[in-house]
This record gives sequence, structure tokens and C-alpha cells, in this order.
Amino acid sequence: MKNCFYCNTIKEIKKGTSKVFLAELKHSYVILHAGGQYFKGYCILFTKNHKEHTHKLPLKLQIGLYKDMMQVAAAINKVCKPDRFNYENLGNICHHIHWHIAPRYKNDKYKQLPIWQIPEKVRPGKRTEKEKEELIKKLKRYL
Ligand SMILES: [Zn+2]
Repeated sequence: MKNCFYCNTIKEIKKGTSKVFLAELKHSYVILHAGGQYFKGYCILFTKNHKEHTHKLPLKLQIGLYKDMMQVAAAINKVCKPDRFNYENLGNICHHIHWHIAPRYKNDKYKQLPIWQIPEKVRPGKRTEKEKEELIKKLKRYL
């Protein structure tokens, strides 16, 4: 679909030009959230085709996407050792079905808040491009 962030990302993945691509799983693609590394290992998982409503997918695909999501969480857990995970499937702005998989850490002083409510200026731990590349390399080993 035109003007869809994730459809455009899929085109980049297929061309080999995505700098944040992690893996093609059975039912989804996974990327590192380029701007979201204040939560080290924060990834986005999205459907391979433009679908907009999770509840309208065949149950088998819903379950498959959940399995893919748990595969990503296991990889993040091995590499980053977070305290817990936040999973969010919103679709309010970009309708293409996607999940935010955000690891949360013990030293996060805003851990009682959903990730969206933490003011951007106080979000800790932004990563350099080199740190993101290293993180992608490590995560790929487990995906
Ligand atoms: Zn799309």
C-alpha cells in the first residue's frame, strides 16, 4: 500500500537497503526500532502483507504472529537481559498490523509508565549508529 511505513519498509528489505532489518520470520518481518533504542533491543514486528485488523486474521495466522513475537522476545532476552517486556499492538497512526516489543530494565525510573508516556527528553540510553549495528548483529544470531 502506498504511503504505508511498513509496506515501504518491506520494499527496502526486499531491495536489501534497510539498515534496521533483523529477520524474516514465518509470518512477519522484524526490524530494530531505529529511534527507540532508549529501550535497548526495542524491535517492531509486522505482517508480511498489508493487513489492518488483527482480529480479522485467520486464527492460525494470529497464533503464528504471536509465536513470531515470542521468538523476537527470546532473542532480545538473550542479548539484552531486560527485566520484562512491553508488547503493544496499536495501529492508531500506521494501520499496518505491527507490534512494538519493548524491553524494560530494572534501572528504568519510569517503569510504571507505558513507553509512550515517558517524556522523550528524559528517555535514557540513546544508542549510536555503531551501537545499533552491533545490536542488530547480536540479535540476528538468535532469529
Ligand atoms: Zn502496509
